[in-house]
Amino acid sequence: LYNQVQDLKGNIRVYCRVRPFKPGQSNTLSSVDHMDERTITILTHSKNGKEARKAFTFNKVFGPSVTQAEVFSDMQPLVRSVLDGYNVCIFAYGQTGSGKTHTMTGPKELTEEGLGVNYRALSDLFHISNQRKETISYDISVQMLEIYNEQVRDLLSADGGNKRLEIRNSSHNGINVPDANLVPVSLTSDVINLMNIGHKNRSVCSTALNDRSSRSHSCLTVHVQGRDLTSGNILRGSMHLVDLAGSERVDKSEVVGNRLKEAQHINKSLSALGDVISSLASRSSHVPYRNSKLTQLLQDSLGGQAKTLMFVHIAPEYEALGETISTLKFAERVATV
Ligand code: ADP
Ligand code: MG
Repeated sequence: LYNQVQDLKGNIRVYCRVRPFKPGQSNTLSSVDHMDERTITILTHSKNGKEARKAFTFNKVFGPSVTQAEVFSDMQPLVRSVLDGYNVCIFAYGQTGSGKTHTMTGPKELTEEGLGVNYRALSDLFHISNQRKETISYDISVQMLEIYNEQVRDLLSADGGNKRLEIRNSSHNGINVPDANLVPVSLTSDVINLMNIGHKNRSVCSTALNDRSSRSHSCLTVHVQGRDLTSGNILRGSMHLVDLAGSERVDKSEVVGNRLKEAQHINKSLSALGDVISSLASRSSHVPYRNSKLTQLLQDSLGGQAKTLMFVHIAPEYEALGETISTLKFAERVATV
């Protein structure tokens, strides 16, 4: 039993990452009072103006000066376990502007140092599979999906991904989206090209005033199949790299129509995700996967032998305090064992 608990505990990890202030913001008041390797302490003020502090503990806390390479090196063993047949899910959670896309993809103007988890993870898989090529032959392919208003679209489709796709559960393939493009990749440049197509397809559907990327989930899924050249045995692993919709609460009195509908869908799917992860963490016998498209899609990769890593992103500005506290509370809930 001890082993079981330890295993489960190890299967859900929560890392907190704090974004630096933006250029020119150096005198801005911060809500972050203190950080160490595992704890972040937030400064709040009560109604009568009295200072208060609240500490949150995670598996790791990354301060604003931690580089993309340092973040990745910490999670490298998790990524590599995909080549041994594990299913892995990596999430970026946080309010819009807190750094989710920075962690997963990188800054808009991509440089070598700026490359995010998505590129580094695939490069690393290529590197290791190449090292093992005398003993295991690996095929690696990717899908890129978007979930918007509880509808799944293919970001790699030639028609711009306008078709709504179904999530299927087959005894042979497990959970899959059979109508989405599945593209074999073997070079980092393949991945960069595909991600560019995906990002273009995503922005086709948005206008300047309507940044859809913050209101939809995007999921880069990596499928790995390895064939042992001696025994002929096949192993399969997968990795979902998910840039979640912004977690900010919208004021229901201020939005109507499409915006209200979007907000309700986001709210529903993020709380469904929180419910699934926290019921896995507390070893509940019922895990409510069916409550959202997101949790349905990821069902095979959450729980069981699968490994989950959630990055929760924090914006340091004091004015973001309300969202920061609710982000940390969400994170604390999914990290609770
Ligand atoms: P989100 O995807 O959560 O809306 P972004 O990733 O777009 O947020 O981040 C907002 C801005 O802050 C971007 O300009 C991004 O490049 C920058 N940023 C976020 N995190 C970092 C970081 N750790 N280091 C440097 N810049 C960052
Ligand atoms: Mg983003």
